[in-house]
Amino acid sequence: MVDLNGQYQAIKEQVNSSINNILETSAFINGSDVKEFQKELEAYLGVKHVIPCANGTDALQIAMMGLGLQPGDEVITADFTFAATVEVIALLQLTPVLVDVDPDTFNIDIAAVEKAITPKTKAIVPVHLFGQCANMEALLALGKKHDIFIVEDNAQAIGANYTYADGRKQKAGTIGDVGSTSFFPSKNLGCYGDGGAIFTNNDELAHVLRGIVNHGMYVRYHHDVVGVNSRLDSIQAAVLRAKLPHLDAYCDARRTAARKYSKAFENQKHIVVPKTVNGCKGICDTCDCHVFHQYTLKITNGKRDALAEHLTKKGIPFGIYYPIPLHLQKAYLDDRYKEENFSVTNQLVKEVISLPMHTELDDEQISYITTTVLEFVNN
Ligand SMILES: *Cc1c(COP(=O)(O)O)cnc(C)c1O
Repeated sequence: MVDLNGQYQAIKEQVNSSINNILETSAFINGSDVKEFQKELEAYLGVKHVIPCANGTDALQIAMMGLGLQPGDEVITADFTFAATVEVIALLQLTPVLVDVDPDTFNIDIAAVEKAITPKTKAIVPVHLFGQCANMEALLALGKKHDIFIVEDNAQAIGANYTYADGRKQKAGTIGDVGSTSFFPSKNLGCYGDGGAIFTNNDELAHVLRGIVNHGMYVRYHHDVVGVNSRLDSIQAAVLRAKLPHLDAYCDARRTAARKYSKAFENQKHIVVPKTVNGCKGICDTCDCHVFHQYTLKITNGKRDALAEHLTKKGIPFGIYYPIPLHLQKAYLDDRYKEENFSVTNQLVKEVISLPMHTELDDEQISYITTTVLEFVNN
């Protein structure tokens, strides 16, 4: 699914020399690379504050802690996402409210969000699934109208641009009140272990968050709030510093591969290729709204699982993201959920299949993969 070694070979010298430097100086925690990476990422994203932390799940949890949400507050998020999103809501004793998603973009459905808002709703967590932003303009309007925080789970869309109706662009994760990301190795900007970060343009919130990641400490050994221990270590920061200057090129490589896949699958009756909606129509050459963390097809003739088996036989990796809607997971069952309100997610879990997607895909691989898929579907 990913080729981390191929990418490493291209940046090996810089990565090895900066890791070596850390080994020689023993500045494993809070070394200069962490601070430098923070500044470089702030500049890249055009955001005032980046707060590095230990992983993307922590980032989301800390973001919600920083907003001062209280037990019993309701937090609306998507039914079709990785469990981390709903897990941290539950861990903080907030009440998760799962809603359906849009069938074209796989992102949170705005009408469903609006229906789910109650006087207890304090936050909405859109997940920019597979590399493309949710409809942020509509969510910002809802947030403003009902006085609700918007927390972006940007683990899958770092580097993506969101385009407003007036043409203005802003980087994914920097649009809501606060955003989070993950630097897990297979993410679009991945380190060589665990890592994450929180983004905000709010100075006061940034100050609060910097304390929370460090045991609730603002003055050494004075613990003003209950915090956590969540750090990005120096070695991971050094890897990320080596990769960040290439992030736009990595995104381009993914888009190029996506375009080739979609070209091969165009006009197929039983295959639906990913749709890009924000600010562009189709996967155009200049489009920067989708960074294809995953390239996800819908197989509409009921043969998704059979295709998966066929790919396994042909030695092609694939992913089913995600096989079970969150509202049907044992940990998150809730009597208030009605099946008819999750018709899109319930269908998507049966139809989606993600093909190999990374920065090192070559034409030969893409051609082998697309030929194998088409052979099966047309048989
Ligand atoms: C990967 C991911 C996370 C969690 O990131 P970790 O660094 O693995 O904790 C959260 N949300 C989404 C949507 C993700 O894809």
